[in-house]
Amino acid sequence: MRCVFSESMNDNALDVSTGAPPSGPPGRLPGGAVEWRATTAVLRSTVRAFTSVVDDLVATVFPADCRACGGSLLRADSLRFDVPVCDLCLSRLSPQSETLVTALCRCCGEAMGMESDRFASPVEGLLCTPCRMVPPPFERAVAFGVYEDELRELLHLLKYNGVRRLAGPLGHKLAQAVMLFESASQWTGDVVVIAVPLFAANTRARGFNQSTLLADEAVSRLRKLRPTWKLAARHGLLKRVKSTESQFNLSTRGRRRNLVGAFKVEDARNELAGRDVLLIDDIYTSGATSRTCAQALRRAGVRRVWVATLARAQREQVEFWSSSSGDSG
Ligand SMILES: [Zn+2]
Ligand SMILES: [Zn+2]
Repeated sequence: MRCVFSESMNDNALDVSTGAPPSGPPGRLPGGAVEWRATTAVLRSTVRAFTSVVDDLVATVFPADCRACGGSLLRADSLRFDVPVCDLCLSRLSPQSETLVTALCRCCGEAMGMESDRFASPVEGLLCTPCRMVPPPFERAVAFGVYEDELRELLHLLKYNGVRRLAGPLGHKLAQAVMLFESASQWTGDVVVIAVPLFAANTRARGFNQSTLLADEAVSRLRKLRPTWKLAARHGLLKRVKSTESQFNLSTRGRRRNLVGAFKVEDARNELAGRDVLLIDDIYTSGATSRTCAQALRRAGVRRVWVATLARAQREQVEFWSSSSGDSG
């Protein structure tokens, strides 16, 4: 909120940018114009200081609202990232380990529910039925949090309301998810980072690809947290050559079919051959997108694909969405 009163004063009453002296009888003191300029400069800086004090006062008395919860957003809030979301909402972004009571599939990250008893094996660990039946073309998929509550709200603000600065705090959470790979065998952090691309026309319409923003924030965070890792972002190497935005109300199988031929690797300089790729997406829903991208990357010679997403829609949510109208995935 700006102080309109002080701004209009500044613009009109004291706008002497031409430096014209006040009108008066001719033959006044020589150098009068210079004195006038000095006086007005002092006045203008006083008004500017006054404006800033009034602005601060107005922002304190009538703070803006948090875009997520509607609660008041004091200036002291969220200064670190400069986002229109309150500290409480940011602090409620919790990792899956804190919100889920069940174990996760060690490959795709699906919450196992009662299945965990049936398929726990001392050799393989926990594996969900789809991963047992058709092993994914990626090594492992991890996610920061369950796609619900504040995480879902903030991701919507970034994605559909264009609050791009939210990529900062959300990218930090994504970096936490990537660090889960540390415990995986042979993960050295020497990887090419690629965000799941949007169809070019959709990127133009939105003005950005949220997964690219999240990936770049996560990479810069990880450079500080894990300085020995060699992370190189090469988003342009994977292209979405088919618009698949309409796949929303499709079943998992329908999504997979719809994605056939949707992604293409353009790796003229052979940067990907034999490399590990960290594939980044905003949300993992059915896994169809990650599987299809990983297949394209593997066909282009990538050695291993690791998938990290900010959010993970667990099965009950996906079932709920497919029975009601759409959400993203
Ligand atoms: Zn809030
Ligand atoms: Zn699985």
